[in-house]
Formats: sequence, C-alpha cells, structure tokens
Amino acid sequence: MRRVRIRRNALDGEFLSHALNSTLDNLYNLYKLVESEFENPDARGQLRARQRMQTERMTPDLPKAALPTAGKTPQVDAAQATSTLSELEQDLARLQRSIRLTIAEKLNQFAGQAFPTLEENRKLVDTIAQLIDSHGLRVRCSECGHPAILRVSPRGNSSGVFVFDHTIDNRRTFHGGKSRLPVIHLVAKPPRRKASKKLAS
Ligand SMILES: [Zn+2]
Repeated sequence: MRRVRIRRNALDGEFLSHALNSTLDNLYNLYKLVESEFENPDARGQLRARQRMQTERMTPDLPKAALPTAGKTPQVDAAQATSTLSELEQDLARLQRSIRLTIAEKLNQFAGQAFPTLEENRKLVDTIAQLIDSHGLRVRCSECGHPAILRVSPRGNSSGVFVFDHTIDNRRTFHGGKSRLPVIHLVAKPPRRKASKKLAS
C-alpha cells in the first residue's frame, strides 16, 4: 500500500528538469521585461530621461580647456545621487520579490512529492539549493522560520527525509524530516557571520 502511494507521488526527472528550465526562462523574461521598461519611453522611462538630462546639465560635456576645473573629476550632486540610488534600491527589491515568488511558485508544483530513491531526492534538493543560492535566497524553515538549506537525510526510510539545515544559536540544527518535499517559502540569504567572536571584556 505504501509503495503504491510513493509511486503515485514519485517525481518524473524529465518533467522536473523541464520545469526548472522553464523557471529559468521565466526569470530571463522577467529581466527582459524590466530591461524594456528602462528602454521604452513610458512614464518611468521619461522620468529617468529627465533625471539623466538634469544630471547632464550639472556635468556639461564641454571641452576640458573651457572648464575652469580642467582635469578634475566632474562633481556629482549628492542629493541627486542619493535619490537615484534609493530608486535603484526600490527597483531591485521589487525585482527580487518577483524572482522569489516565481521560483517558489514553480518549485511548489513538487510539494508533497518525492523521488523513489535517496540519490534522486538529494539531486533534487541540490539543484534547488543551487538555483536559489544563485539568487541570494534560502528556504524558510517550516518549524522555526529561520533561513535554511533544504537537504535530504538518509534517516527514516530508504529514500530519505527532507530536512531544514540551519544554524541556530551558533549550533547546526536540523528541523523537519518529512518523506515528501515540503511547501517552499523563500527568504533572503542571511549575511555571512564572522568566524571570530566579539571580544569578551
Ligand atoms: Zn528550523
């Protein structure tokens, strides 16, 4: 009975690889979309063009000899730079969120499923880990909410169990342990911890 259930829920490797490729395609399309948003003369584009013109007015492209500050680096307006960078930050946050949701939506097609062997399940979580790591993401632990890496541990049954691998209070900790792929929520990768501890006074 158990074997039949596992077979019905088993993942198809070819289907998985196709799905991951289509995730990458979606991300590529997302990038193209944003890129075209910058290029097209829509409202945002016009705003950017205006800002660019303002910047150019402040740093005119005149022959160097005509400038009293010949040879010096053109000065950037601090307020303008701050506003440009904060706008960029907002754009990137928006993009990051779209990427997170796109990846999670695609990966969750496999929630509640598993491959019949340990090796295949490990390959699945390794592929997921690489994919999300390349976008600065981690999986959110379903038990404690900490950012984690999804792994397959051989304990439990022969095809392994899915565990959340994370460091809590400086200790490597594993949570979860279901035999099927859990529902995946993605979170930003935490900043790298310093190896050395703070000086105790
Ligand atoms: Zn946890």
